[in-house]
Amino acid sequence: MKRYSAFAVVREAFRNHAGWEKAWVNPEPRDKYDVIIIGAGGHGLATAYYLGKNFGITDVAIIEKGWLGGGNTGRNTTIIRSNYLQDGSAAIYEKARGLYETLSQELNYNVMFSPRGVIMLAQTQHEVRGYRRTAHANALQGVSTEFISPARVKEIVPIINLEGPRYPVLGGLWQARGGTARHDAVAWGYARACSSMGMHIIQKCEVNGIRQHEGKVAGISTIRGDIGCGKLGIVVAGHSGHLADMAGFRLPIESVTLQALVSEPIKPCMDCVVMANTVHGYMSQSDKGEMVVGGGADGHVNYTQRGSFHHIEETARALVETFPMISRLKMLRQWGGIVDMTGDRSPILSRTPLENAYINCGWGTGGFKAIPGSGWGFAELMARGYSPLCADFGLERFKEGRFVDESVAAGVAH
Ligand SMILES: Cc1cc2nc3c(=O)[nH]c(=O)nc-3n(C[C@H](O)[C@H](O)[C@H](O)COP(=O)(O)OP(=O)(O)OC[C@H]3O[C@@H](n4cnc5c(N)ncnc54)[C@H](O)[C@@H]3O)c2cc1C
Repeated sequence: MKRYSAFAVVREAFRNHAGWEKAWVNPEPRDKYDVIIIGAGGHGLATAYYLGKNFGITDVAIIEKGWLGGGNTGRNTTIIRSNYLQDGSAAIYEKARGLYETLSQELNYNVMFSPRGVIMLAQTQHEVRGYRRTAHANALQGVSTEFISPARVKEIVPIINLEGPRYPVLGGLWQARGGTARHDAVAWGYARACSSMGMHIIQKCEVNGIRQHEGKVAGISTIRGDIGCGKLGIVVAGHSGHLADMAGFRLPIESVTLQALVSEPIKPCMDCVVMANTVHGYMSQSDKGEMVVGGGADGHVNYTQRGSFHHIEETARALVETFPMISRLKMLRQWGGIVDMTGDRSPILSRTPLENAYINCGWGTGGFKAIPGSGWGFAELMARGYSPLCADFGLERFKEGRFVDESVAAGVAH
């Protein structure tokens, strides 16, 4: 694969851009691979990448029913932060945030990581206590966050209304090196790197069965035929329940639609990410100038990828009271993604009842930020059978009552 560089741009400018290669190849599936990953979202692609990079396992196929990055990875609002409460969570999200810092150089693909800072507003005494506690926990975990005053919030976000007709801003949890990245580019960057290692990314190939022999996975059935494998990774977010069903086990997961909207572009007015969890809305400004707005998750299980109308109204109301100047903005687009929610709002990175099958899911409303760390840890779990980063997130925790409770950090936010 040719390297992208300033030199390459200049070179191609002189030859009518005829020399660019396809970023990844679209091969026909082979009969068998050492490893199959189902799901070419960010987590599946990152897992494949680190299997190759860290463990030299490159006989890998990533099987995708639609197009790569077309699931939640290409539908999210791209917030990256690692200010979680529990040690296991802080470790995996901070690992991911750290990898994001140099991901563009690592993949030779501009993922547009923008560490512009993330504020989670505290608008009740409960939130003040909760975020102060998280800031203390983060200090012990080596995650750099601080609890800041309302005056400092106003300094960072001049367009904010501190008074709030319903809930005044009482402070905020500030992570200066949190931020955003371009979601498609993360999927495309990993895909290109996987393809250049010789891995097969097979799109438009829905998996509709998991073939088993004596307690092990022998391969998968797809709409393009059967494919054998030595190990299987299931990384399909909102469709995890279906795939687990095909494999013969159950998951403690509910799939619901989470939605987002984006406005017409306006001049730069807010250079960080603000999350207002009590009134329930969050917002950042894209490089194009659009206000990117995140809304709520449906209260009922569904697979619609649209979301309920009343969430749009609630989100708009929350943001207009937090940022009155946006009240005349026109919204351009609205969409939804099917997120996979666990009861403790923490992911599942686990072995399964099938000896050579592993599952990575349960990222719910907040897994974009985790993609590099999740891929790193899950690849290690698949290659070695154990990963310190995944140790707290096994399926057995639901039987043992050993929850990783992140409902404060992730219950509504992203
Ligand atoms: C509106 C919205 C806003 C969000 N905002 C944020 C945010 O700001 N920050 C954050 O960190 N996270 C956010 N998230 C969550 C984040 O998007 C997800 O946690 C993350 O993208 C999950 O990635 P994934 O690779 O696991 O899943 P996906 O990207 O969904 O990939 C799974 C893939 O599996 C494929 N698949 C499913 N079934 C099959 C099958 N039978 N055969 C083959 N392939 C199959 C799907 O087509 C899909 O491409 C948001 C999500 C949504 C919907």
